[in-house]
Amino acid sequence: MGKHPEAPGYKAGWCIHYRAPSYGETCAAGVRYDSLRDGDKYPLMNRLPCFIKPGETPADRSPCAKLRPPTAREIEEYKAWLEVRTGHLLTAIISIAEWLDENEGKNASTVIKCPACGSDLHVSKVGSNDHTRGQCSRSKLCIGWLQ
Ligand SMILES: [Zn+2]
Repeated sequence: MGKHPEAPGYKAGWCIHYRAPSYGETCAAGVRYDSLRDGDKYPLMNRLPCFIKPGETPADRSPCAKLRPPTAREIEEYKAWLEVRTGHLLTAIISIAEWLDENEGKNASTVIKCPACGSDLHVSKVGSNDHTRGQCSRSKLCIGWLQ
């Protein structure tokens, strides 16, 4: 559950140093996940201090000296960014509605203007199931979807 690398702020409910264990054996602050086992055989999600559940205190979790929850401001920054991004994604999907109707049941591709950055956004669809995918050409981190 890492956040988007271009996003400002931090996600609510997660230590700012958290990154998915599949990205490495430590979090971004260098704490080894296996050092957080606290007697548990496995570093179970419900003992990891990284995820901050509402109503819990740090005492309910394995102790971590580097735990740093996001501030209210950081959470707001992230939420605002996410709202803008979701808006751009919806704009892109709405703007291809007519093209989708015209190409129902056909393989097709087109290029639209990326609502986030103005670059070319490549859209393609598969005739057999009408799934679409879109990806901004500027960066994989810009607007993209698969549905
Ligand atoms: Zn873009």
